[in-house]
Amino acid sequence: MAECIQAGNVGTLQAICPDCNRMIYRRVNPQNLAAVRGDLEVTVTLVGPRLEDTVKPNVNCDSARGLRR
Ligand SMILES: [Zn+2]
Repeated sequence: MAECIQAGNVGTLQAICPDCNRMIYRRVNPQNLAAVRGDLEVTVTLVGPRLEDTVKPNVNCDSARGLRR
């Protein structure tokens, strides 16, 4: 089993090496993940600062109100 940490257009595939039991990391293009994963079961985790942008309220409301007389 492996995990892919995806941040924007960059993915980091991480898994435990079956031969030496050490963590191995591999940069992947998330769009190529289907080809890279092969028979591996991969859990994809999305991270990134863009999530915070959606939480902010619409700033245009305040500025529009300020223009009203
Ligand atoms: Zn190894």
